[in-house]
Amino acid sequence: MPPDYSIYPRYPYAVGFLTRGCIRSCPWCIVPRKEGGIRPAATWQEIKRPDSRTIIFWDNNVLAHEHGLQQIEEMGHADVKVDFNQGLDTRLITPEIAAMLAKLHWVKYVRLSCDTSDMLPVIAQAVAYLREAGIGTHRLWSYMLVQDVEEAYHRALVLKALGIQPFAQPYRDYDGGCEPTAEQKRFARWVNRKEIFYTCGWHEYRRRK
Ligand code: SF4
Repeated sequence: MPPDYSIYPRYPYAVGFLTRGCIRSCPWCIVPRKEGGIRPAATWQEIKRPDSRTIIFWDNNVLAHEHGLQQIEEMGHADVKVDFNQGLDTRLITPEIAAMLAKLHWVKYVRLSCDTSDMLPVIAQAVAYLREAGIGTHRLWSYMLVQDVEEAYHRALVLKALGIQPFAQPYRDYDGGCEPTAEQKRFARWVNRKEIFYTCGWHEYRRRK
C-alpha cells in the first residue's frame, strides 16, 4: 500500500522501500527474522510523490539486489533527491557502484554502516571509491553499533580519522530482553552530540560525568 500522506499534511517527502529483506544475517539484527531474504518491493517512480522531488528510502540493503541497483542507476538521471536512511552496505561498494551513487542528488548524507572493527578496512576502501567517484567528505556518515564500549571507542576514532561522521547505536538485545547499559548510552551521547564529540575526548567526558 502506498502511504497516506494526507494524514501527515506537514511532511513533505516520499518514503518507501525499493527492496525488502537482506542477504546477510548479522547476529545483532532483527531484519532477517522480520523480513527474510532480499527481494524487490517497488520502483522509485511508484514511491515518489508528485508534489515532492525528495524520497527517503528505508531499504535495509539496497545494493544487494539488481533491482535496487537498477533504481539507483535510473535516479541518477532523474530530478529527485534521495536519502537511504538505513545505511549502505560498504562490502558491496565497488568503483562502479560508487560512480552510480555519485550521480545521485543526496538530501545530505551518504549513510554507511560500520558495526564491528573487522569492517574498518572495508569501509576505508569504500570511502576511497566514493571519494574517487566525486562524493565529498562532508557527506560521509556511518551507523556504528555499540556493544563493547572500549572497542566502539577505537572504531569511532578510526571513522573520525577517515572523515566519516559516526552515529552510535547501543545494542538492544530483543531475545535477552536487555536494555542498553548506562555506559553504552553515555558513549552514544558522546558520539552523537557533535559539539561534544569534536571538542572533548571520550575519557574526559566520562570522567566529568
Ligand atoms: S546487513 Fe544490515 S540489514 Fe542486513 S542483517 Fe546485517 S545489519 Fe541487518
